[in-house]
Amino acid sequence: MKLILLGAAGSGKGTLAKKITQDFGIPQISTGDILREIAKSGTELGEKVGSFQKQGILVPDEITFEVLKQRLKQKDCKNGYILDGYPRTLNQAKMLDKFTKVDVVIKVDLPFDELERRLVSRRQCAKCGDIDNINYPGYTGKCRKCGEKLFQRNDDKPEAIKVRLEAYKNNITPLVSFYGDKVFNVSSVGSPDETYAPVKAFLKKLEAKN
Ligand SMILES: [Zn+2]
Repeated sequence: MKLILLGAAGSGKGTLAKKITQDFGIPQISTGDILREIAKSGTELGEKVGSFQKQGILVPDEITFEVLKQRLKQKDCKNGYILDGYPRTLNQAKMLDKFTKVDVVIKVDLPFDELERRLVSRRQCAKCGDIDNINYPGYTGKCRKCGEKLFQRNDDKPEAIKVRLEAYKNNITPLVSFYGDKVFNVSSVGSPDETYAPVKAFLKKLEAKN
């Protein structure tokens, strides 16, 4: 199964992707994570990517797509994958469509004021990349997985968040019409498990058909 997860930053799509990975055995591919890794790699491409991210602007499509294509050709993607955070724009969707056809597009919805609230309180581990939130019970400022200190990403600061949410708003409508009846809508207002339940049922049905 080749899946796309659409949803604004903070919508909970990363958490949803992890649950799908566990149950269906396909990897979660986050272009954000791949790009962040490259930004730290010290290569020329990495420096380019890093400078865009520092300004809170999106990395150009051609660069992102090259990086993504390399990733999708790896062995663990042979039975499918979940694209988390890609495509963000109609242009990216068209590029991807020429490379491969996806089966389902899951769109995760959450009101914008709630998205903003979740994003400013988000923190990430510099070492293992794990995401936490200062509003979650038991938050200590240290990573729950590896103990490293957590930090606020530049793109989770209020000004950058506004830029990201505006971009999302402008791009989502053309994406939804591009994918048409492949789109499956789910609201993430409830808990992660409540969000996942209808998605799991839908994917199980789809899996049984194939
Ligand atoms: Zn960690």
